[in-house]
Amino acid sequence: MSRRHSPTRGAHPGTDRPAGCEDRQPVMEVQDLSVRYGNAPALRDVTLTIPRGCITAVVGPSGCGKSTFLTCLNRLSDLVPDCRVTGSVRFEDRDILNGDTDLVALRRRVGMIFQKPNPFPLSIRKNLTFPLRHHGSPSGKALEEKVEQILCQVGLWDEVKDRLDAPALELSGGQQQRLCLARALVLEPRVLLLDEPCSALDPITGGVVEDLILSLRGQYTVVVVTHNLAQARRIADEVAVFWVRHGVGTLIEDGPVGQIFDAPRSERTAEYVRGIRG
Ligand code: ADP
Repeated sequence: MSRRHSPTRGAHPGTDRPAGCEDRQPVMEVQDLSVRYGNAPALRDVTLTIPRGCITAVVGPSGCGKSTFLTCLNRLSDLVPDCRVTGSVRFEDRDILNGDTDLVALRRRVGMIFQKPNPFPLSIRKNLTFPLRHHGSPSGKALEEKVEQILCQVGLWDEVKDRLDAPALELSGGQQQRLCLARALVLEPRVLLLDEPCSALDPITGGVVEDLILSLRGQYTVVVVTHNLAQARRIADEVAVFWVRHGVGTLIEDGPVGQIFDAPRSERTAEYVRGIRG
């Protein structure tokens, strides 16, 4: 794929990962986060720090609250009827769970990509210019340049430059997912939330998207939900392991990827990463 405008800034020493996650400065601090759907608790007492510029993978068996956790980080949880969230999520010096949070601004700073690619039913170009115009960003030549730059960044430019006005829904699944990433990146977010971004794609296309996620490391803070432990091991700096305890999702362990896979503190984590449980 084209890396002409890739944000990659030199390899991380000793690995092929882009640099940029060394200082582990907190960008989001989640404290005692609990979520209920109606009367049913889904997530209990999650406390987790998301470090700047790193890729944090959220793993765990189905139903342990991974997606629920992710939706709290940009308040998409507000859109679910009867969803009640308590605790705090500090981002940019404020608790985003407060009622006075500007949700449009928050979701611009904390973008989200879903499992199933969901481009707007518009042209490829409009998928990028629409959100930019909505947020009052450049017009004219500057807008066109931004479109090219962002399509280069996700490795799509060469594939679509001759058909920017074609419907986005005519793209393949992997191309649609990269366009959705471009749509989030064009708004220059600080944090990207990815919910199983490769699992609806075939392995080769999923690999392209995975490489792209890795290339974002350092410039963006990424939180990615994945059920694919091998993928978490390949791309994550930090891993948060969720589990269902007494019928409710909770965080059982988090730490650097080496700790989680090679020296986990919790027996549950050890059994999970060895494939004995979950
Ligand atoms: P995971 O992403 O780990 O599979 P989820 O966050 O999707 O877990 O789900 C956690 C729990 O919350 C599950 O018991 C699920 O059934 C429940 N849940 C998720 N979304 C909703 C919803 N919109 N309404 C009611 N219950 C939900």
